[in-house]
Formats: sequence, structure tokens, C-alpha cells
Amino acid sequence: MSTLQVSVVTPDGPVLEGDFNMVSCKAESGELGILPKHAPLVAPLAISAIRLKRDNETERIAVSGGFLEVSDNQVTILAKAAEKQEDINLTRAEAAKKRAEERLQSQKDAIDHHRAELALRRAINRLNVGRS
Ligand code: ATP
Repeated sequence: MSTLQVSVVTPDGPVLEGDFNMVSCKAESGELGILPKHAPLVAPLAISAIRLKRDNETERIAVSGGFLEVSDNQVTILAKAAEKQEDINLTRAEAAKKRAEERLQSQKDAIDHHRAELALRRAINRLNVGRS
């Protein structure tokens, strides 16, 4: 059976490389499930979880937006930030969530409000992936 060669890369360097049977992710247009022989694709990613399936194992990665590219059974995820489930610091994510919630309560400026909303989404995503 053919597999997908997956690589997850951030500006800080590679996060994961490996062969998997299926990649599930959340593009801005909705949920995507990528299997071997998928048509070429480029899609912007939401702040969300990536699930990588190999036999009976599933690896989970929190991504903070970026792009997914599929071509010739190669899946490249270029993320602004990405953490494997086991590398997520839950205490840090809890603190980031609290800070963002406080900023959302007090912030009147629309741009800062939007920034706080994105920070809150990143923190909640990390908590969800880290605890799953
Ligand atoms: P914080 O306020 O805690 O820095 P943030 O959402 O502003 O959170 P980012 O700018 O998205 O953080 O990420 C900066 C770097 O820190 C990235 O390399 C990212 O992978 C890492 N990072 C952020 N939060 C966590 C976390 N809870 N656990 C592990 N790594 C994290």
C-alpha cells in the first residue's frame, strides 16, 4: 500500500517527518482528509489539530495556521508554529489562554482585540491537542 511522506516545517525548523497512511487537518475551507494518490492541492490551514495516522497509531500536532501542500504523495505543512502533542507545555498554554481572555475583556481597539482572539484560539488549540 502506498503511503504519504509527511513533513511539518516551521520558521524555527522541522517538527516532524515520516510516512503515514492518512493526514486529517482543518483547512480554512473545512475539514480535509488526505489519502495516498490525492490530487495536488495547496490550502491555507486554520489554527487546529493535524492528525497523522499510521497503522493503529495517531500522532497529533497543534498548528497555528500556515499552508498544506499535497503533491505526488508528499504532504508538506508549512506552519507559523507547530507542536507535537507530547511537546505541548500545558501550563504555558493555560497562562496564554488566561492572558488572552483578560486582554479580550479590557481591549477596545479592534486590531488588538483580533490579536487577542487569535492568541486565545492558539492557546485553546494547544490545550485540546495536549490533552487529547
Ligand atoms: P505564548 O504567549 O505562550 O508565547 P503564543 O501563541 O504567542 O504563546 P507563538 O508565537 O504561537 O506563541 O509561538 C512561539 C513559539 O513557542 C513557537 O515555537 C511555538 O511552537 C512555541 N510554543 C508556544 N506555546 C507553546 C506551548 N504551550 N507549548 C510548547 N511550545 C509552545
